[in-house]
Amino acid sequence: MSARDMGTFDDGDTPAFSGVYEAAAYVVGSTVDAVKCIMEKGCRRAFVPVAGLHHAARDAATGFCIFNDIGVAIEILRSGYGVRRIAYVDIDVHHGDGVFYAYEADPQLFIADVHEDGRYLFPGTGAAHEAGRGAAAGSKLNIPLPPGAGDTSFLQVWPRIEAFVRHARPEFIILQCGADSLAGDPLANLRYSPAAHAHAAARLCEIAEECCEGRIVALGGGGYNLDNVARAWTAVVRVFIETP
Ligand SMILES: [Zn+2]
Repeated sequence: MSARDMGTFDDGDTPAFSGVYEAAAYVVGSTVDAVKCIMEKGCRRAFVPVAGLHHAARDAATGFCIFNDIGVAIEILRSGYGVRRIAYVDIDVHHGDGVFYAYEADPQLFIADVHEDGRYLFPGTGAAHEAGRGAAAGSKLNIPLPPGAGDTSFLQVWPRIEAFVRHARPEFIILQCGADSLAGDPLANLRYSPAAHAHAAARLCEIAEECCEGRIVALGGGGYNLDNVARAWTAVVRVFIETP
């Protein structure tokens, strides 16, 4: 489809433009490279702005996401480095359904996902009762917030995420820090400021220092207001640079 420059991968959100295969492959490669830098080269933290494409499924592209670089990173951490317990924290405004359902029955992939309630927003999933299946029950934490929720709500629920991640004793932390949860995003209705992103990044860096020799990768995720993208992601980068 990429070579033919035509069609869409889903209902229309995800077009198959010319070169989309190569572009999507570069995203995955960037995330894999970041993980390798952390695991092999003594780098504790990395940020990959183009990545965090959390809607793609193993066998399907959807919601602007062709390949799920997060899932590929998880598989490489396990097969290449023997990392088992991984915490994935997703503060993008949308539920990270591609990651969630791929690992719903995986007891060692700990997912904490705070997002706008799926009753009002794509992809419609991520209800609070979705907490993992079978042996993985309790290894997932979904926190839907009502439209209009801002920093106050985020900071109210954050301690639950922090306790959940600490309890998981992760060997590696992945943060998907979508900027579409900031006030003024044209596709969604949460109202965080960049302080939410800075808070998440700072607290997760602290947990990474405690649990896993500081290992954390942040992935940009969504964001459709470019000023918000700049403000949210530079807040994360600043924390990554300035946290001891
Ligand atoms: Zn999003």
